[in-house]
Amino acid sequence: MPDIAVLNGRLMPLSKARVHVEDRGYTFGDGVYEVVRVYDGRPFMFLEHLRRFERSAEAIQLPLGSPVRWERLSRRAIEASRYSEAKLYLQLTRGVAPREHPFPAHVRPTMLMTVRQVTPVDEKLRRRGVRVVTMPDLRWGRCDIKSLNLLPNVLAKQSAKQRGAYEAILIRPGLGVTEGASSNLFVVTRQGAVITPPAGPAILSGITRDAVMIVAREEGLAVAEAAVSPEQLIDAAELFLSGTLTEVLPVTRCDDRIVGTGRPGPVTMQLAGALRRWIGRHVHPPGRDHQARVTTSVRAKRR
Ligand code: PMP
Repeated sequence: MPDIAVLNGRLMPLSKARVHVEDRGYTFGDGVYEVVRVYDGRPFMFLEHLRRFERSAEAIQLPLGSPVRWERLSRRAIEASRYSEAKLYLQLTRGVAPREHPFPAHVRPTMLMTVRQVTPVDEKLRRRGVRVVTMPDLRWGRCDIKSLNLLPNVLAKQSAKQRGAYEAILIRPGLGVTEGASSNLFVVTRQGAVITPPAGPAILSGITRDAVMIVAREEGLAVAEAAVSPEQLIDAAELFLSGTLTEVLPVTRCDDRIVGTGRPGPVTMQLAGALRRWIGRHVHPPGRDHQARVTTSVRAKRR
């Protein structure tokens, strides 16, 4: 079977999946989601994604149900797709009800998973680096919730695309640089420190961002979560983006300026390589069954 959906527990071809027009995900964007990268048939950092999914759902008072069930169904969907390189999308909305703003009294949340083949980022872009453009961050005050309300992100990304750039870098007055429209941002200073804006309500704290910080420390680099000013973007030796599908992607132009030497910098390349090795180790852990490890951890957390 190719692209797969699991809708409210039922597995089917993605093309057959249908949701009611009064689903609150559709009318209000009342829901949360996750995107998980599948490498070699195995979901990467699945436990971390499930935990963030649980936090997002809790933050909007949406009952996620058992993470073990999400995990079991996701694995069935990945298996059914037979894709080895895929993106797994998880979405939970408040469910189907007449359009009234307050939560409906009795409603069953709509649970969706999809599995699609992934189109990896063009290796040429990885070698050359991408251009980003800065713009005001027009989002709300809870960007740490991975909610379906992505209109400001969509508009920022579209504006970047129309200006020939790969990503929009968002700047919030008084806070500085927050993140990309669909990625986190890292700065490498001229002194070689690796800095990313701090976790908190102003950003979506990426699972890949965490992985990058871990591998950067393993590589012996100085890593800090600290505010990043627009001036620091101009002054940076290197910039790069991180994300589930993005992994580590060098930024070589920001607005109309060249970043560093104009080529992907050594720290960025070091971290891109280190992250790939780390992914390899996690997808194929030596001497341990990864699936058993994730299931055990999710169950342990529920107890
Ligand atoms: N920030 C935003 C706004 C995003 O949409 C994403 C991608 N989901 C990220 C950061 C990166 O997060 P992750 O590493 O978990 O994919």
